[in-house]
Amino acid sequence: MMGLKQAIDALRRGEVVALPTETVYGLGGVATKDAAVERIFAAKGRPRDNPLICHFFDAEHILPFVKDVPPYWDALLQAFSPGPVSYRLPLPQESTLRPAVAGQSTVVCRIPNQPLCLEVIRQLQQPIAAPSANTSGRVSPTTAEMVEVDLGHRIAGVLDGGPCLYGLESTILDCCESSRITILRPGAVGPDEIVAALKQAGFSNVSVSYAEGTQQAVVPGSKYRHYAPEQTLLRVPSVHDVPDDVSCAVLVSQESWAARAWPDSVVPVILGSRSDLPAVARELYQHIKSLDEHHVDAAYYVEEEWGDSSLGRAIANRLNRASEL
Ligand code: AMP
Ligand code: MG
Repeated sequence: MMGLKQAIDALRRGEVVALPTETVYGLGGVATKDAAVERIFAAKGRPRDNPLICHFFDAEHILPFVKDVPPYWDALLQAFSPGPVSYRLPLPQESTLRPAVAGQSTVVCRIPNQPLCLEVIRQLQQPIAAPSANTSGRVSPTTAEMVEVDLGHRIAGVLDGGPCLYGLESTILDCCESSRITILRPGAVGPDEIVAALKQAGFSNVSVSYAEGTQQAVVPGSKYRHYAPEQTLLRVPSVHDVPDDVSCAVLVSQESWAARAWPDSVVPVILGSRSDLPAVARELYQHIKSLDEHHVDAAYYVEEEWGDSSLGRAIANRLNRASEL
């Protein structure tokens, strides 16, 4: 753990520091320093073709680093930034962010809404590249302790900002087209809120939809396994598919746990209630991570109906990617 001043000094030297944000903890490094970007990839064991989201202090801070912004840009930022939304924008040919974007011709930008994190960016006056602060493929950390356990020995330190407010990574919006926004990664903010905000600002002609099929490949990270506990997590369609003769842990909603009589061999890891999705999101990664603490022979996730809300879709997306059939 380290204090604000120590964190800023370490970042200035080109080191990497885990930073709190309102979504998940990020592994931060100054985005324009090649050595810092290299350290982020190395500490996470991140595939070299997987670009890093860059974090900025405010809209004016972003503008010099991108080539074009769409007409609805100001309206979007007004509504959702600082906050849990990231924007994919075209990058100029010559850019100091080239190493951070890992070969892309775009950069994904976010203005986080976390006072400590904003203060770090403000004092450095530089964009901070910060992917989630976990070993590549593993669960994203939502507390300073989770970072410390996973990456503590490979980074300069962790700036503790307490538990993250949302607990899920940001919504990523593709803003490279002038009249269409594609949601590349579901998060706390979804199409209904975006359409409403744009309409209020006079942009009723902009369509907003979730990425489908090949559009999903725009995010290089989507092809990698993610959010996985060490124990293989098997996805089953119903509570009745969890065997009663195997010592196992089962990741379920409160409602699904109540839907069956369970043998003693099954340890419940209750995700919370389907009627309180913000709470499910906030603790999701700690629950997934806790599967590794039970000394059981197997772990199951009973696939749930999380619903069509933005958060429901985001929760389903992370749980499906954490588990396998
Ligand atoms: P994380 O690394 O956990 O912060 O997640 C960031 C996600 O954003 C990864 O899946 C990246 O592939 C994706 N990403 C970052 N920058 C870009 C970019 N310029 N274009 C498309 N996807 C990006
Ligand atoms: Mg990640």
